[in-house]
Amino acid sequence: MQVYKILLPLNVDEPFDYVSDIPLMRGDFVNVPFRGSKKLAVVWGKGESEVEEYKIKKIEDKPDLPALNENLLKFIEWVAAYNLSHIGNVLKMCMSVKFGGKRNKHEPIIPDFTLTGLTETQDEISKILRAKVSNAKYCATLLDGVTGSGKTEVYFEAIDEALNEGKQALVLLPEIALSYQWLERFRQRFGVEPGVWHSARTPKQRRETWLDVAEGKTNLIVGARSALFLPFNNLGLIVVDEEHEQSYKQEEGVIYHGRDMAVVRASIEHIPIVLASATPSLETMHNVDDGKYELLHLPERFGGAHLPKINVIDMRLEKLPADEFLSHTLKEELTQALEKKQQSVLFLNRRGYAPLLLCRACGYRVQCPNCTAWLVLHKSHKSLECHHCGFRGSVPEACPACEAEEKLHPCGPGVERIYEEVKNSFPSARVEVLASDSIKKADEIVTKMGNHEIDILVGTQMIAKGHHFPKLAFVGIVDADLGLEGGDLRAMERTYQLMHQVAGRAGRESDVGKVLIQSYMPENSAIAALIGEERNKFIKSQLAEREKFGMPPFGRLATIVLSGKNEKLVGNYISKLALAAPKSDNVEVLGPAPAPMSYLRGQHRHRLIIKTARNINIQKYIKNWTEKTHLPPSIKMKIDIDPYSFV
Ligand SMILES: [Zn+2]
Ligand SMILES: [Zn+2]
Ligand SMILES: [Zn+2]
Repeated sequence: MQVYKILLPLNVDEPFDYVSDIPLMRGDFVNVPFRGSKKLAVVWGKGESEVEEYKIKKIEDKPDLPALNENLLKFIEWVAAYNLSHIGNVLKMCMSVKFGGKRNKHEPIIPDFTLTGLTETQDEISKILRAKVSNAKYCATLLDGVTGSGKTEVYFEAIDEALNEGKQALVLLPEIALSYQWLERFRQRFGVEPGVWHSARTPKQRRETWLDVAEGKTNLIVGARSALFLPFNNLGLIVVDEEHEQSYKQEEGVIYHGRDMAVVRASIEHIPIVLASATPSLETMHNVDDGKYELLHLPERFGGAHLPKINVIDMRLEKLPADEFLSHTLKEELTQALEKKQQSVLFLNRRGYAPLLLCRACGYRVQCPNCTAWLVLHKSHKSLECHHCGFRGSVPEACPACEAEEKLHPCGPGVERIYEEVKNSFPSARVEVLASDSIKKADEIVTKMGNHEIDILVGTQMIAKGHHFPKLAFVGIVDADLGLEGGDLRAMERTYQLMHQVAGRAGRESDVGKVLIQSYMPENSAIAALIGEERNKFIKSQLAEREKFGMPPFGRLATIVLSGKNEKLVGNYISKLALAAPKSDNVEVLGPAPAPMSYLRGQHRHRLIIKTARNINIQKYIKNWTEKTHLPPSIKMKIDIDPYSFV
């Protein structure tokens, strides 16, 4: 009998001892008894125990599953340590599959790459990337290029190189960018169905893909951030497309940044990674400045400016009638586009009809019962919804506070309201809404738009994603100030990235495209940078500001949020925690204070922000500090390293 350390895919921070009379290797799957049931777990190594062997539980059996390799185990350990997550929870992400059931036996899928014509620069950059893949060493490259510069074509070449060498390639995309259209493009170029990995896959699809990846039967995987935890045995390349997208950050469960962890996995696997973007994140640009990442720049195909003509409407001067949100100039552009039989897009990154229902008799604002948030009116669902916790209620006839009837007034616009305004102004135009809560119909709407069966499309950031509409001539950004409301660290950067992406939709093929931005603060630097096509200057000034305040990527940040049903208890414990913070130079602990979203999903939330110099091991600091804290089970602690969400 031998003692083994067995890691269970549960909320545990270390492996447990079990004995086995069959020899096991690190990475093997085993079934073990745990709290009265049989659990699938992974051998983490040999163990020694002071306890007499007969007192240690015995593993039940070793199922017929491909073992996890050493690189993946190292990656799991790394992710857990960096993000201060329980290692069992990280392991769980690597085996989020229901094993068992009938397996589709098939031969390995052999892609058949179609070469396309590349420009001289594209060809040059392709060759550099192919060489990196064939070199098989860790290196990180930023592929910087706007839509239409051939960025995708170029990284497809690198993927082809990996596949030719019999290796696996992983392409990460933001979940909402994983559209049917995009996958179709993949299919056409590689002649095969790539393995697809995201949250909407069925359990059977997930199991098949997981096993195909482990057995090397699928070498090409396209997926959302969680695909990073698949059991590749022969990975040769990782591509992170739209690397600037904040949706790479997972905010629930194990909190991690998919892009950053992808870089870690590439380094553990000793393989190249390509980060692609038209609007790279400040973090990535800073790594380029520091020489950690190589920069490959794809120029715009036709030289010079690539964005269409952009104008800003100063909404302060517009004096719009109450409850109208589209300026005269914007409507004029819509009229012209309709006359020319061209398509328009109106962008507003807010679902629903109105973000607030206000009583005009008593001033009451209808709030979510579970959150410090107003309920959003959704006319299409005939409901009031909380965009934070998913609460859904009916729309009251009378004010819940003063009982006045017909006094509840919707304030501000969501996409549904913009749709209504467009419909009122242009009754004969064909108008549709594209938002994530119409996600079932998204493919249909995109197809209709592509076939010019829609004149005006009103949408959230869903419209910014990869879709190509050749007849699109006009883009109106309804409220450029929306993203700046939160005022967090990255608000300006995000606003710029999103507007750039949306603006880039207009008239890409010709020079007829026009963009109008409506703003109450038209002088802000994101808008100025967009109009002047001064991206690098904007990034520089944003970086300078971050440096001045010691903010990331120059300093490090983490947040600790305590939450619980009993507000007083949460407040007491966060104060205790704050007092226990070890004194250290170059570490600032800010707070405690109620989090901006001080009540969320029925939990009161109090927060501490930890800010340190770059060279401080913030994980070690927080670990030393919080390890000694004992919290009652009714209070949850959430630690976020490199936070992106500050609500
Ligand atoms: Zn009222
Ligand atoms: Zn809520
Ligand atoms: Zn640009």
